[in-house]
Amino acid sequence: MYIKDIVKIFENKYPKSLAYNWDNVGLIIGNEMDSVSKIMLTLEATQAVIDEAVENKVDLIITHHPFIFKGLKKINTSTTKGTDIYKLIRNKISVYSAHTNFDIAYDGLNDEIAKRLDLKDVLVLDTTYDQKLYKIAVYVPVSHQECIRKTMADMGCGNIGNYSDCSFTFEGVGRFKPLNESNPYIGIKNEIETVEEVKIESICEESKLSEAINNIIKAHPYEEVAYDIYELKNKGKKYGLGRIGQLKNSMKFKELSEIVKKSLNINEIRVTGNLEDDVNKIAIVSGSGSEFINNAYNMGADVLITGDVKYHDAQNALELGIKVIDAGHFGSENIFSDIVEEYLQNKFENIEVLKSKSNINPFVTI
Ligand SMILES: [Zn+2]
Repeated sequence: MYIKDIVKIFENKYPKSLAYNWDNVGLIIGNEMDSVSKIMLTLEATQAVIDEAVENKVDLIITHHPFIFKGLKKINTSTTKGTDIYKLIRNKISVYSAHTNFDIAYDGLNDEIAKRLDLKDVLVLDTTYDQKLYKIAVYVPVSHQECIRKTMADMGCGNIGNYSDCSFTFEGVGRFKPLNESNPYIGIKNEIETVEEVKIESICEESKLSEAINNIIKAHPYEEVAYDIYELKNKGKKYGLGRIGQLKNSMKFKELSEIVKKSLNINEIRVTGNLEDDVNKIAIVSGSGSEFINNAYNMGADVLITGDVKYHDAQNALELGIKVIDAGHFGSENIFSDIVEEYLQNKFENIEVLKSKSNINPFVTI
């Protein structure tokens, strides 16, 4: 298994194109043709995590926070970042980061918190954009139709609501004449050939389109693949940061606060608002989301669960009448490793996936 195989499957679920422009995501250190048998997951690749990865002979570290975020002018051991990079490369350890794309994507951090709180009717809190939809139609000899349908489905084509692998197949006859310079899979040069073919149509999101086409061409037996791409007027999924949803049953704010601690496996949280009030509609922005207090309030949330809330943001929330749970930046995002572990273990049986045991929370409460 190569890094590129892991990246392909990972980005099928968490496309890089969802990340904000200012972000730095993807393969940060390494070569996509390096082989991988052991992966370590962590919110952050600190020095302790890197030492742990070296000790465990890890090939790839997957982080949530971008391992390199700002520009670097030198990579040497006079700085902590330079030392980290030097150590990683000397030990043939690659680093891949999935940041805002992981916050925004479905089944990413915010959806996982919503799932752990058992929220229903979950919507995007702050829509970044509506995904454009395309229809891909590809002409395939009958013998290769299953292979092409599988390739399209593996690339995420044909997802409609709660259904996957959706496609439509027409039967017909393909007709072509291989020219002098051709190297035809079927047919003879300069003679018209007719082949029983099928036309397979499937829907595809814009973020997956170019990779889907590349893979269809690779899987197709013909030298020249005939395919069409149509832009659709159908509305695609909304993508954006944060989620908002309803609790199955209203509860006291105090009870919700305890559930948040338990479901995120954290010992302490800070809250604003009356603990005895009933709450029902919950907004979530993992990491650092106090800038979404007004947004959450405008969408009718009773509570915003986030981290990194400053004093004046908390005052603003109290004035507005929306409650805030500050679960901490670390506290609201450390479940990153749980989510990726589950996803990768279901996809790759022969890869060992470890969650880092290093303590990366810089804060200690005394
Ligand atoms: Zn973060």
